[in-house]
Amino acid sequence: MTRKVRAAAKLNNYKSPTRTFDVPSDVNGNPLRVSEYFGESVFDYQKSDILTKQDKKDIQDIISKNKDLTKDMADKFANAVLNWATAKGATHFTHWFQPLTGSTAEKHDAFFSIENGQPVERLSASQLIQGEPDASSFPHGGSRSTFEARGYTSWDFSSPIFLRSNENGKTLCIPTAFVSYHGEALDIKTPLLRSITQLSNIATKFCNLVDKSEKKEDFEYVEVTAGCEQEYFLVDKGLFFERPDLVMGGRTLFGAITSRNQQLEDHYFGTVPDRVMAFMQEVEVELYKLGVPAKTRHNEVAPGQFEIAPIFNRANVAADQNQIIMATMQSVAIRHGFVCLLHEKPFGGINGSGKHLNWSMSDSRGKNLLEPTDNPHTNYRFLAVVAMICEAINRHGANLRTAIAGHGNDHRLGANEAPPSIISIFLGDTLTAIFEAYSKGENYSKEGEDFLDLRADQLARLVKDNTDRNRTSPFAFTGNKFEFRAVGSSANVGIPMTILNSAVADVMNDMNVRIEKELDEGKEVDDILKGIIKDLYTNSSKVVFNGDGYSKDWEIEAEKRGLPNLRTTADALSVIADPKSNEFLTKLGVYTSAELETRYNVRVERYVKHRQIEFNTLINMVNKDILPAAIEYKKQLAESINMQKQVGVEAKVDMSILKEINEKVEALKADNEKLDSMLETMGEEDIKAAEKIAKEMMPLSEKMADTIAYLEENVSEELWSLPTYYDMLFIR
Ligand code: ADP
Ligand code: MG
Repeated sequence: MTRKVRAAAKLNNYKSPTRTFDVPSDVNGNPLRVSEYFGESVFDYQKSDILTKQDKKDIQDIISKNKDLTKDMADKFANAVLNWATAKGATHFTHWFQPLTGSTAEKHDAFFSIENGQPVERLSASQLIQGEPDASSFPHGGSRSTFEARGYTSWDFSSPIFLRSNENGKTLCIPTAFVSYHGEALDIKTPLLRSITQLSNIATKFCNLVDKSEKKEDFEYVEVTAGCEQEYFLVDKGLFFERPDLVMGGRTLFGAITSRNQQLEDHYFGTVPDRVMAFMQEVEVELYKLGVPAKTRHNEVAPGQFEIAPIFNRANVAADQNQIIMATMQSVAIRHGFVCLLHEKPFGGINGSGKHLNWSMSDSRGKNLLEPTDNPHTNYRFLAVVAMICEAINRHGANLRTAIAGHGNDHRLGANEAPPSIISIFLGDTLTAIFEAYSKGENYSKEGEDFLDLRADQLARLVKDNTDRNRTSPFAFTGNKFEFRAVGSSANVGIPMTILNSAVADVMNDMNVRIEKELDEGKEVDDILKGIIKDLYTNSSKVVFNGDGYSKDWEIEAEKRGLPNLRTTADALSVIADPKSNEFLTKLGVYTSAELETRYNVRVERYVKHRQIEFNTLINMVNKDILPAAIEYKKQLAESINMQKQVGVEAKVDMSILKEINEKVEALKADNEKLDSMLETMGEEDIKAAEKIAKEMMPLSEKMADTIAYLEENVSEELWSLPTYYDMLFIR
């Protein structure tokens, strides 16, 4: 692509910068309020006009009280769903599940059927409840041989059924879990649901044990809540397809950094470009219809980077909704002439994308367990929960690191231009000072005010006012929730959520035992909690770090503190293979050892395969794009040198450029061949291959990327056919 073509592309986009779409409106064409059409594509049995009042009550009991679903009720429910979906124009249904690929999978069936020679629409209870997709082509890590490929999807009625629209029709999506014939979880959702149940039960018990309220009304449940901020890049669709590396692997494998990128810090929260705004608005309309409460939208730090965040929800619903958000953004982007990049590091030299997992727990009285309050007793509960989370990170930080490991996130964590992959916890100065005081058996005082035991109402204010924004911490307390920031933008958030829930459940479970024992001994609840706060914080304070998590100093300091620093996916995955570090997961029943082994195999294999794709793409692009452009330039220079010689001019500059280009071309060719032969001799897709990739092949490919960047900056613009960062990040 020459500059002229680029200019034309740019002009073209500016000429028709925005796509208009149908904003939901009433019969008179007046726009509807969001609240008027929110959730219109989600099945709500309460609104069904073919279910009776009693039916609705029975269904509610089944859902909220975990009662068994009878065949009769399932039939009625299926019929109500069918009636609703077909009235809205749906023709097909699919079980929608999340296999170990990390994305979602579906297989569509038509409602349409022939019965007794007559055409009818049908959705039976068994079709609603269970499906049997041909599971052989999903990754299973050796847990099932392909000839015994039975996998079952089963309806997860904790997550709503929804309708997905395309230009020409609608499909009913039934959220399901995916398990093997023997009941082994083959998906991400099943362990997530198990971890939520465990944490929720353990936390409910904890709340009841330490409850000192007058009324003593029992806590019925504790809900795990989550909200995922999602970062992404948008690039022009035309330019995207000109970059094989983006098409094949979602990131540029090389690219010269533009003179201006993010150093002026003017993109973050800046005005959203019109064409992008049109995209965001259409995404939001689609999400609202699907019952996803999209809340914030803004520019992110890097040029071409943006963010969307919904209002938080129950954790498993939030996990499903994050999948819906990603899929919606990708399909709407195409309509606007964009491609939405969810990769963690699409471009070198500028920020990558994350998915901040905001996480908390809420009791059945509606109180957030991580919200400091003005009641001293509940503040002990609050501080104890925070201390337990510190201990959870202390015990299981390596597992959390593993939970977010992946080839894409390796460029955000532990790589040369990324923060280190050490899992630490940010509490902010106030909370840290309070814990420090506790661990020394003192009361925290600020400006001479000894308030912890007296005027605890100040705590709420203090904590809120003083949880400053620390963007460099992988796991930060942000006022009334924790924010797990190290999660990758493309990740299925179900995995880190599962590990986080389990880590906290593990510690809380131990504390429940301690509390029960000390209550039996006649101790006061407040004293018990104070003891827990003191002991847990003392034990785990080494994972607390409020400074700059991106600094070299922290890496050195963390090593002194003995914190693990698992730099690459290959390093991190070894944790799943270690039964001792996983004991808490099997003990809680979140994963069986067999399921962990499956996940280990699948993730190692996927890491290797993704890198293989990248390396092959790189080799190809070097041969077909980079070398030809550089050689053509060499030819031009050589011709120019010859011509100048003939007329007796010394072509000194031409000569020096030619020599430099030539050196780079030779080096690149040699490295390309080396990479190619390493690929050929790699053997099995096992941990050995993963380690070789991480330690030898990645550094080689990065060296090649540097050489290519040099060529990009020095070969004539006219000859450089690939879109550059300039094109992809600034043409909008
Ligand atoms: P911030 O600037 O604090 O990161 P954002 O609005 O960007 O705020 O994102 C905060 C995210 O955290 C939102 O998705 C929000 O719904 C979510 N959130 C807020 N409170 C809770 C909570 N109690 N539990 C889980 N998530 C929460
Ligand atoms: Mg945030």
